[in-house]
Amino acid sequence: MSQGNSKEQVKSSSVSVFEELHNMGHEQVVYCHDEESGLKAIIGVHNTVLGPGLGGLRMWPYQDEQAALTDVLRLSRGMTFKNSIAGLNLGGAKAVIIGDARTQKTEALLRAFGKFVENLNGKYITAEDVGMNSSDMETISMETQYVSGMPEYRGGLGDPSPFTAYGTYVSMKAAAKKAFGSDSLEGKRVAVQGCGNVGQYIIGHLIKENCKVYVCDVFEDRLKQVTSKYDVTVVNPEEIYDLDVDIYAPCALGATVNDDTLRRLKSPVIVGCANNQLKDEKIHGDACIQKGIIYAPDFLVNSGGVINVYAEVIKANTDWTQGHVEKIYDKTLDVLNISLAQQRNAQEVAMEIAQKRIDDIAKVKVKY
Ligand code: NAD
Repeated sequence: MSQGNSKEQVKSSSVSVFEELHNMGHEQVVYCHDEESGLKAIIGVHNTVLGPGLGGLRMWPYQDEQAALTDVLRLSRGMTFKNSIAGLNLGGAKAVIIGDARTQKTEALLRAFGKFVENLNGKYITAEDVGMNSSDMETISMETQYVSGMPEYRGGLGDPSPFTAYGTYVSMKAAAKKAFGSDSLEGKRVAVQGCGNVGQYIIGHLIKENCKVYVCDVFEDRLKQVTSKYDVTVVNPEEIYDLDVDIYAPCALGATVNDDTLRRLKSPVIVGCANNQLKDEKIHGDACIQKGIIYAPDFLVNSGGVINVYAEVIKANTDWTQGHVEKIYDKTLDVLNISLAQQRNAQEVAMEIAQKRIDDIAKVKVKY
């Protein structure tokens, strides 16, 4: 295994990385390179005041290294707030592997990644995210004990997606209560972008509540999985922003709430499971308030998955997980109540609540 580059490249890239770490408040970033397996990964550890940094591993064919770095920094910071607002004793971290999960994911690559995780001695606990599944976590566990989201037959709690989906669904109900006066979703038109691990379970909940569901995905097989089970309307990925719907549910990648889409979206509510939905937390969070759009903070909405993963770490049962995920409804209402009463960016309100817990517990921790 090797780390590094030519001296000149190391010099220039480390300056910009340190600047970014300073701006975003990260503790540590680890570049992982394994020539033989082709592994190129970045682990971002944002904040470990509440506990070890836990966050998923994403495999994605990033356009370039900067895009991968930006993603891991944003995602790991999001985990700090997510784990805090979820009431978990976990810090924030995340990892990305640069590559196509459909064609470049191999046992050697995953095990090489596992070795880097092990070397961090528990500061980072990995789990699944886009491009990963619980059987990949099993492969990674051959090289590290700091892995969660393991399959049930290995004592894990399996795929966290159903809990992420359930948390997203209860958040939608809370947002609907604020927007439409009732938390019933019956008859609501919902546009779900992304029919992946989480999206398909969200669609299941919506169909059960008699919503009119529009879906899109970039992969035909994902769409087929959903259309073979549910009565949904398939639209082109680009069309999703122009639909006349009540709720836009971003359930694919981040930054889909941006200048362009905010001009096009007609839905008064945005609630989805995707991480980092706001392209710019400040600009686009503020824009939602100005436009009268109820936006439920992504890291709160999608915290069901990490609650389930944490249950595996602390060996809690499914009832504990279910109870904790149910609380996302009240937490969403609390955030939206403050946001609407004060006409303030909901993402910022939720971040303040999360940061307050970190600050309070930091004071507790310094005492013997
Ligand atoms: P996934 O990879 O299974 O699903 C994402 C889906 O989105 C894929 O089917 C993909 O083809 C599709 N997609 C990608 N780009 C698209 C586009 N432009 N238009 C339409 N579809 C597109 O991932 P997932 O596990 O379902 O996660 C979805 C989102 O939720 C991610 O942002 C992830 O970080 C977040 N999230 C997931 C969990 C979890 O428990 N899996 C927990 C918290 C947050």
